[in-house]
Amino acid sequence: MSRPTSATIHLDALRHNLTTIRAAAPSSRVMAVVKADGYGHGLERVALALQAADAFGVAALADAERLRAAGLSQRIVLLSGFDEPADLTLLQALAVDTVIHHPDQVAMLEALPSGPAIRCWLKIDTGMHRLGIAPGEAAAVAARLHALPTVAPELVSMSHFASSDEFGGAATMAQLDCFNDVAAQLPGPRSLANSAAVLGWPQAHADWIRPGGALYGMSVVPGTTGADFGLRAAMTLSTRLIAVNRVKAGEPVGYSGAFVCPEDMRVGVAAIGYGDGYPRHVPSGTPVLVNGQGVPLIGRVSMDLMSLDLRSQPNAQVGDPVQLWGPHLPVEHIASIAGTIGYELTCSITRRVRFIED
Ligand SMILES: *Cc1c(COP(=O)(O)O)cnc(C)c1O
Repeated sequence: MSRPTSATIHLDALRHNLTTIRAAAPSSRVMAVVKADGYGHGLERVALALQAADAFGVAALADAERLRAAGLSQRIVLLSGFDEPADLTLLQALAVDTVIHHPDQVAMLEALPSGPAIRCWLKIDTGMHRLGIAPGEAAAVAARLHALPTVAPELVSMSHFASSDEFGGAATMAQLDCFNDVAAQLPGPRSLANSAAVLGWPQAHADWIRPGGALYGMSVVPGTTGADFGLRAAMTLSTRLIAVNRVKAGEPVGYSGAFVCPEDMRVGVAAIGYGDGYPRHVPSGTPVLVNGQGVPLIGRVSMDLMSLDLRSQPNAQVGDPVQLWGPHLPVEHIASIAGTIGYELTCSITRRVRFIED
């Protein structure tokens, strides 16, 4: 039997989520964020399923090249912007939009002799203090961009939220106020909302929303899953049982004997581990589905394998299906046990996992 570990990508769920997101922000255009290989779901696969999006957001020019090579003609926005003059020729050749987050980039554009006009998104730092032009400098930077024949006349004003997962929170209120003050002096469309802001900050929807995680059915709002917002999980991570053993009371299971059997019990071994991207540091008790029923993982997760407590499943046998996350076991639950967010888990699936579309 070949290794049974696979990630099934539910294309219908991706399309359903785009429809749900559009309904939540009916006056906005949608930039589908597909950075990090479509949050681990597969860049081309996701973009082809989401062709109804108005644009795609990527973090690397190489991703934009892949999308164009796949035949996608939508707008593509390089969210982290370009780094060097050579990138500009590529942006022109691929007709890719770029974010401008630093005055040094304006200088590079001023030195660009000619070619098609590049569409620019002016990123304003309204409080996240990662990428962005200071609010007081935005108008001057915009004026320099407007003066250039190699920059398209329509400049989108944008900003990014640090804490939009906290609905009603003061930090996001302050960022919104700051953005509205700056954008009042700038003509052109506006864009602020990541997934959490699409779901919980309607006053931030503006002209373009930029959902990523929500498209894949994931929520980063603490204590919630995508399903709470009508979204559907786009990935099922699964494998099979490759052994079922009887282990005696008092015997340890796995590395360092981190789990000791409290009684004679059946222990299943599933063909998945941290070498596939499942988080190694989750504790005994983390739920896994065997034949669709929850059982606890026991002991340490190994590179290729994990052990499962099959006391609740006397009939489980080799070959039975195992799911690590998916529509019936939200990745957000596993992520919260692992001390992270679902995005990190789906982004961490490794190359040896077989991807299947359904
Ligand atoms: C990643 C990213 C998004 C999408 O964030 P989600 O939480 O996945 O919706 C939106 N805008 C920018 C600038 C980003 O970098």
